[in-house]
Amino acid sequence: MCGIYGYKGVKTNAGSIVINGLKRLDYRGYDSWGVAVCADNALFVEKEVGKISDIRSLEKLPNGNCAIAHTRWATTGAVNTTNAHPHYSTDKSFVLAQNGIVENFDELKKMLVEKNYRFASETDTEVIVRLIEEKQKTQKSLLEAIRAAFLQLDGRNTIIALTKEGEIYAARNGSPLVVGKDTKTNDIFVSSDVLSFAPYVDTMAVVENNQMIQIGKGGDVSLFDVKDGTKKTFVFEPMTIKADTIQKEGHDHFMVKEIFETPQAIRKLLSQPKGTYEELANATKRAPHVYTIGSGTAGFAASQIAFYLRVFGGIRATNLVGADARSYYGLFQKDDLIIAPSQSGETADVMEVLEYAKNKKMKIASVVNMPGSMMTRMSDYPFMSEAGPEICVMSTKVFSSQIAWGYLVAKTLQEQYENGHKHLEFLAYALHTYLEQNQNIARVKMLAKHLARKQHIFLLGKYQNLAVVNEGMVKIVEGAYHHAHAIPAGDLKHYAITLMEEGVPVIAVVSDDVVKNDMNTAINEVRLRGAEVIAIGHKKQENYDYFLPVPDTGETDAIGNVVPLQLLAYFMAVELGNNVDKPRNIAKSVTVK
Ligand code: GLU
Repeated sequence: MCGIYGYKGVKTNAGSIVINGLKRLDYRGYDSWGVAVCADNALFVEKEVGKISDIRSLEKLPNGNCAIAHTRWATTGAVNTTNAHPHYSTDKSFVLAQNGIVENFDELKKMLVEKNYRFASETDTEVIVRLIEEKQKTQKSLLEAIRAAFLQLDGRNTIIALTKEGEIYAARNGSPLVVGKDTKTNDIFVSSDVLSFAPYVDTMAVVENNQMIQIGKGGDVSLFDVKDGTKKTFVFEPMTIKADTIQKEGHDHFMVKEIFETPQAIRKLLSQPKGTYEELANATKRAPHVYTIGSGTAGFAASQIAFYLRVFGGIRATNLVGADARSYYGLFQKDDLIIAPSQSGETADVMEVLEYAKNKKMKIASVVNMPGSMMTRMSDYPFMSEAGPEICVMSTKVFSSQIAWGYLVAKTLQEQYENGHKHLEFLAYALHTYLEQNQNIARVKMLAKHLARKQHIFLLGKYQNLAVVNEGMVKIVEGAYHHAHAIPAGDLKHYAITLMEEGVPVIAVVSDDVVKNDMNTAINEVRLRGAEVIAIGHKKQENYDYFLPVPDTGETDAIGNVVPLQLLAYFMAVELGNNVDKPRNIAKSVTVK
């Protein structure tokens, strides 16, 4: 899930330019980074373990007008400087960086070792480099050698290479690749996302799967089909996406700022035209079967969307988990609809299923927060979740706006769009008021201090609050690095009851009257065994040890209930001294399987 960046143009500080670009990509992985600059017919590389934001200076690198850079999220080979990208070819005539996983890495490496190629790192990336060298023996140009090697890679991979003559090559199969151009200077930027070069270009173009580009010595960009090698026309379109300069605006971390932006995100969603909801609602009705799909937080958003489609929309919607949807492949049929909420719009696990669904001629709807993503481009019904840039790696306001979107789709199906709109308007107002009241925040903060001392935390929910407690679990695990376990309230007695003993914390979301009695029973069962109950709901009861009140917004309660859980995870992370906006080992855009 790395980030790739490249620059070739008139400026001579290419090293600093790509580092600045990389800083905007560090949500994609931040265990190590590397830069290569081309100067005087040679390549100079600097690599380090750690965050790009910690880069002091690039003293070792010369000036040059051509450079590539990479931020790594290790999949193959430990996190160390040797394994960081870019990797040199044996004769140092080119360097290469990769985003993805070479799934046939073992087999290729074995073949190359037998041919006496030497490897400095443990990465699959270096296998690509050596494979290109092997292909250079028989192919007439580096372009052809890269193409031939790329065709032999299994898995979803995007690569970028820089030669000592100052040419850049990049090929894509899976992970994103975009090119930007400043038409006044002819400066060219290559990147994993458009926002990273948005301030410097006025036109852009997307490299599609199985395409590759060559930026020649003179800065001319050519596009090729990877499969047959034919040259294609590369059309740059005017750049419409603006780069926001995003600040914390007085908050200590982006996470809390973004939680506070939830009401605003919901309001923004409400400005989308009714017609687009109606179109999707009609497609949903026509579809023989409706699936929702996502990974991690978006996976629980997908689950909540499916809940709303069933309960309000009367649609038999099935929720799939991105990383484990294969058992449904045989059931996918033409005109089925698959709905994918995603923060980045490029999650590899989900993309793989969507590509399969597309081949089966299914329809795709997506609700994505990142502009210009692959998912949006492949969708028949593309929606934006309109939450605005989310910098914290842990997703908060995007989750809320995506489930609010799902609720509105379901209400449109019920022919209750206006009523749904009103409910969400009220929810946005109620959440705004909730977040404005210091005592609400103070309560969560105090509780977070208490929970930060507990290694295991249980969460109970049911019906509209089940996906919400699951999402609460995700946030606590991501932010606090503590073990959290969410369970449907009634299921608890079947197994996890064995873990209930003195002082075990159990968070129960009890706002829903439909399942009030069941929640109460579960609460009594755990309390009898000594557990301490933290309830999130509308009215305090005697059998709660702690109580976090939330606004009563009826049908949309679940959307609001996730907010105190997000705040709880935030304050726990702060209390524990964790890296709040960039938790260890995870990245925001998961473009590897
Ligand atoms: N497989 C490469 C590595 O481990 C790239 C990983 C990625 O794209 O996240 O270095």
